[in-house]
Amino acid sequence: MKHRITLIPGDGIGPEVTSAAQRVLKEAGAEIEWEAVEAGALALEKYGTPLPDSVLDSIRKNKVALKGPVTTPVGGGFTSVNVTLRKQLNLFANVRPITSKYGMSDRYLNVDMVIIRENTEDVYAGLEQDIAPGVAQTLKIITRVASERIARFAFDYAEKNGRHLVHAVHKANIMKKSDGLFLNTCREISNSYPDIQFKDIIVDNCAMQMVMRPEQFDVMVLTNLYGDIISDLGSGLVGGLGLVPGVNYGEDLAVFEAVHGSAPDIAGKNMANPLAVILSAEQMMRYLGEDHIANHIKHAVIVLLTERQYLTPDMGGTATTTELTDALISEIVH
Ligand code: ATP
Repeated sequence: MKHRITLIPGDGIGPEVTSAAQRVLKEAGAEIEWEAVEAGALALEKYGTPLPDSVLDSIRKNKVALKGPVTTPVGGGFTSVNVTLRKQLNLFANVRPITSKYGMSDRYLNVDMVIIRENTEDVYAGLEQDIAPGVAQTLKIITRVASERIARFAFDYAEKNGRHLVHAVHKANIMKKSDGLFLNTCREISNSYPDIQFKDIIVDNCAMQMVMRPEQFDVMVLTNLYGDIISDLGSGLVGGLGLVPGVNYGEDLAVFEAVHGSAPDIAGKNMANPLAVILSAEQMMRYLGEDHIANHIKHAVIVLLTERQYLTPDMGGTATTTELTDALISEIVH
């Protein structure tokens, strides 16, 4: 079946890794009509805004997008395109599977967790101000509505995917109001899912436990900032950011993107690891009901990584982005 999909190549390593994913999808037999749109610094130059309406319209129309990373300027410049996109399209749930099945970590062999991050509020609400010279304030917004929605999503995800345990990760001992609301809401929602075990864990302890005994985690549900940090920690357990895919879900939309950022330090050098975007594309195929193509891609990635021959520098090898992609494609077509 032919699919019409929005493509946001992004910037930094974005165009390199998304074009690698497009090549892989094509060779794996996916029939896709791409609608490419620009966001980020390039769009700002051309259209006067880093997130033109055409990007939002295209995703609303096609319902599915593959997105490369878009640089977020630190400390100034435009507001994060990633955050604005999530808010505008109400992409409230970010799902990041973290698994050691690709065999890229000798230290951790039994990691199989799914991090579900609330995407629309918390300190990402963008409510910041200078309240006096030398004093700045950022507001952390947590609502019952958004907490309920993400908690329900996490339990539904666990049910649909044969998982048995959901951890709510929080700091409710200190932020009794905001994190307290999130935790209590998760607990209430857990009552509707008697077959799924519910536990809660304080975020700093969670970080330590993930390093010491990551196999104890199954599904984790977190507010926005903790979700960001904990998923990078999870990526580190299984071989780094270059390997972890991600999906942002809205009510009837899905935007597939890697966990990593635009990596300006290696942009344009043909050394970025394209696997995180390729695995995001694999998830996209599954979402679109193309399990056969998704399985084909996943199997090829496992074989490629098991052989350990074509690894990019972040995985300890010397292969270029192109060499890794070519090797993956020959695995797919042979
Ligand atoms: P953001 O805030 O946009 O998430 P970040 O500040 O977390 O971005 P990244 O751009 O993700 O940073 O990069 C962090 C480090 O990981 C950098 O050294 C970068 O080179 C490396 N890195 C990120 N993605 C990849 C990749 N696909 N392949 C190889 N190295 C990567």
